[in-house]
Amino acid sequence: MRVHTPQGCRAVLNHGTRPSTTERYLETLEHEELLVRRGRRSGLYTIIAVHCTTRGPSLGGCRMWSYDDARAAVRDALRLSRAMTYKAAVADLPLGGGKGVIMLPARARFTASQRTAALLDFADAVQTLGGRYITAEDVGTSSRDMSVIAGQTPHVAGLARSRGGSGDPSPFTALGVEAAIRACCERAFDSDSLRGRTICVIGLGHVGSRVAKRCARAGARLSVADVDERKRALATQLDAHWLAPGDALVADVDVLAPCALGGIFNDQTVPALNCRVIAGAANNQLAAERIAEQLASRSILWAPDFVTNSGGLINIAEELDGYDPATARRRVQRIGDTVREIFDRAAADGETPLAAAMALAELRIAEAGTVAETTATEIGTDVTQPDHPSA
Ligand code: NAD
Repeated sequence: MRVHTPQGCRAVLNHGTRPSTTERYLETLEHEELLVRRGRRSGLYTIIAVHCTTRGPSLGGCRMWSYDDARAAVRDALRLSRAMTYKAAVADLPLGGGKGVIMLPARARFTASQRTAALLDFADAVQTLGGRYITAEDVGTSSRDMSVIAGQTPHVAGLARSRGGSGDPSPFTALGVEAAIRACCERAFDSDSLRGRTICVIGLGHVGSRVAKRCARAGARLSVADVDERKRALATQLDAHWLAPGDALVADVDVLAPCALGGIFNDQTVPALNCRVIAGAANNQLAAERIAEQLASRSILWAPDFVTNSGGLINIAEELDGYDPATARRRVQRIGDTVREIFDRAAADGETPLAAAMALAELRIAEAGTVAETTATEIGTDVTQPDHPSA
């Protein structure tokens, strides 16, 4: 049977020509929809990229950012929406990938009413997509902004708990990171216990501070780092060793948990690493996807970032069925099983965990496409053979 793929997913599923290195952040135009719209209130441009809706509506944050030129904004929407397709599919969520951008003029200073105007214009754009795109908080927007958007369109997620939403995703992201760390330890050290494990957490923000607390509670021997000296207080509280960020990266530890910025693993840093496992919340940890091969050749077990940090997305997805935090927690904990499955597939196929995670996402999209095709065929048959004799 032909695999049904909407236009946007064609390249994702084109296994025959899939390059040997994975390309999660491609900026090619393979998306289902790309909406560019000038807001009638704010005069600002809004871009929404719907990459793929084969598994469900596309979900992705609304980024409010100033770009040097319009191409950079479109590129951000294209590549981030594609990454969301993979993240949702590998987490086995009934969602596809999308992304919104509100393009601010360079060095924009906004009054409160201009900000509201921009958000309402964005909400209009979301509404025109009729639910094919669901927005959420991202860089430059807050849950308060989502409440403004919710006044104009129901296609918004990640609202405060008081508004029936799923609230702050960070605790769930941290829970998922712990599950991934445990799955990695099981593979690397034959035990998922964190008691006595040396773990270094880089970045003690919303997620990293919680990861550090969880690991400390589980009995790990902890070291932590942050560029913000005020985070030393947490190190003291957790009886953790405080390191400068540069020293943390090369610390001789069992587990490195990067929870700050992306791009920290590159041609210079990978040869200097002294850890056995990497599993953390930071997005886009690899400066290039080929770095996954360098990590593997150094026998460093890397849990793909978009799997490890999917707890926040899994939590938001719970809103679609009526939010229940206990169910969300249970689902987030399954990140450990996903990581195990990815390592099994990587070992069986002799590929990196990144390639295995990408392939798993593609398989799930293909399977969903096949179901959609079958259903469409059945509906088509009903239409050509009406059960009403007089029709
Ligand atoms: P945050 O801004 O709350 O925390 C980041 C922390 O990293 C801050 O304490 C900051 O001082 C520190 N930091 C910045 N640069 C650093 C450096 N070079 N070395 C050491 N520390 C540095 O962010 P967050 O919400 O905790 O997110 C952390 C990472 O996880 C980001 O990459 C984010 O995209 C990703 N992520 C977060 C969530 C979530 O639920 N918040 C979900 C998925 C992914």
